[in-house]
Amino acid sequence: MTRLALIAHDEKKSALIKFVHTHEDRLSTCDLIATGTTGKRINADTDLTVERMASGPLGGDMMIGAEVAKDALDGVIFLRDPLRAQPHEPDITALLRICDVHDTALATNLASAACLIEGV
Ligand code: PGA
Repeated sequence: MTRLALIAHDEKKSALIKFVHTHEDRLSTCDLIATGTTGKRINADTDLTVERMASGPLGGDMMIGAEVAKDALDGVIFLRDPLRAQPHEPDITALLRICDVHDTALATNLASAACLIEGV
């Protein structure tokens, strides 16, 4: 089964919920994990159930990075807010890096996220 991680910064969480609704049929066939607050929103606002990691600022990005390092994820959808610096920017950079190290599919905006879920 395809295993995906979903992450969205606060300004992008509503867009991710909309994306999940739009692609619910495809995503319902996947095993999903998410950072804490993103996962809470998905579990509350959609019919899908995701496994929640810690909140991003508390290490959730690193927990997802560890899954990538174990080759236990097929893809990461990470809707970043490009206009605001995040306090845990080093963790975010590390997650992006480990995706490149392991050649794990990574989407950081809605257009590439749509391609990712069809391609993995
Ligand atoms: P959150 O984390 O889903 O817990 O808000 C996302 C992030 O800030 O990387």
